[in-house]
Amino acid sequence: MPARDHFHSVMRIGPVQIATHRDRHGRTQHAAVCTADRCGWSSDFSSRSAAQLAARTHRCKVR
Ligand SMILES: [Zn+2]
Repeated sequence: MPARDHFHSVMRIGPVQIATHRDRHGRTQHAAVCTADRCGWSSDFSSRSAAQLAARTHRCKVR
């Protein structure tokens, strides 16, 4: 997982963590990161609801 600045509002849905942060342009971004070993899935979203939806529908390869 890459280092990110100003993580806050971390929440968890299943194996996926969602963290809100600001990018270099000062925009709020929502990063969803799967914490399962060997999965490695992660994605950035511009809205929290999109990140939550992706987390809920994420199908872990590991399972
Ligand atoms: Zn996964």
